[in-house]
Amino acid sequence: MRQLATVQTITDIQPIPDADAIEVASVLGWKVVIKKGEFNIGDRIVYCEVDSIMPERPEFEFLRPVKFRVKTRRMRGQISQGIVFPLSVLETTTNPPDTYEGLIAAMVDGLDVTDFLGVIKYDIPEEDTGITVNGQGGRSAMKRGFPNWIPKTDETRIQSVPRVLEDAVGTAIYITEKLDGSSYTCFLKDDEFGVCSRNQEKKEIPTCHFWEATRRLGIEEKLREYKQKTGIELALQGELVGPGIQKNKYGLVERSIYFFNAFKVATGSFVDYAELLNIVLDLDVNLVPLLFLKSGTKIGDPGFSTVDDFIKLSTMKTNLYPQSVWAEGIVVRPLVESTHRKLGRFSFKAINPEFSLKYD
Ligand code: AMP
Ligand code: MN
Repeated sequence: MRQLATVQTITDIQPIPDADAIEVASVLGWKVVIKKGEFNIGDRIVYCEVDSIMPERPEFEFLRPVKFRVKTRRMRGQISQGIVFPLSVLETTTNPPDTYEGLIAAMVDGLDVTDFLGVIKYDIPEEDTGITVNGQGGRSAMKRGFPNWIPKTDETRIQSVPRVLEDAVGTAIYITEKLDGSSYTCFLKDDEFGVCSRNQEKKEIPTCHFWEATRRLGIEEKLREYKQKTGIELALQGELVGPGIQKNKYGLVERSIYFFNAFKVATGSFVDYAELLNIVLDLDVNLVPLLFLKSGTKIGDPGFSTVDDFIKLSTMKTNLYPQSVWAEGIVVRPLVESTHRKLGRFSFKAINPEFSLKYD
């Protein structure tokens, strides 16, 4: 579960041009607008990330008009993501005081107080039914649960784990555009072909967007042909975009799938970037849009070293034609698969703040 509320330290505070009542604090890799004079650099605080839903308590009443949800905002031109509270916010939970004492003793940066505070995550009601025309709901479109032998798609925001960038200096990377659609997985395993959304395997029914795109693009045939040629069974993961999905932000005329993962069923491992490119070329399917980087670009290079650098890179228009709307952000990965203790599989996202402002 994502840690939404954690104990952190304010590492910097800067003035905002033309604003006398507010200033901007740095917490992890996030920028948060605060009231001037309320906090100092070095203060220990509770930081709540965007998409937190705060419990109904007097301290959080000011969030009632936005249904207690923490969102990306812009104040006096300054993007603000998350909210900072003094540690005393922990005193007033309904938990018995000895729990709080325990917390104080353990109050290291990163201490997760999400459950302690009763913070929950805002979730867009999942567009997981795959059904739009006849209004049938969710589980009727489910064949079974998501296969337990393929990792579900997921990405960590770099602002939450800024130290990853220090640990990974020198890692050669590639960057793709993060598309805002529905997570799509297909696989061929023991000669059985399946199609899944983010959380379930889908029944093949005529109204299912996932299957409609799969059939039109001939994905099953492609995976079978690949197996015949190479002996290898693959699972592919990508983003399904287009009409009927996430309001079709890119204005596409038909649904497409842009792939970002190829997974070998036999070995249970993701292929490296070079092999991913070969596979998408070979199968003649789309890769998520690639950002053009100088070859050999590494974490730590100028423009690729700080959280702010990656946020700047993410602040772009989509690379999907006609390139008129904001991209959701970027996903950064090593050319050669690796892991990091904070991430698991090495891969992180940076969300375009302009996109969050517009659509969240
Ligand atoms: P989120 O949409 O914020 O939950 O971020 C994780 C999701 O981004 C994954 O589950 C994927 O479905 C999706 N995604 C979209 N574009 C990409 C991409 N280029 N690389 C990896 N994941 C992506
Ligand atoms: Mn998404």
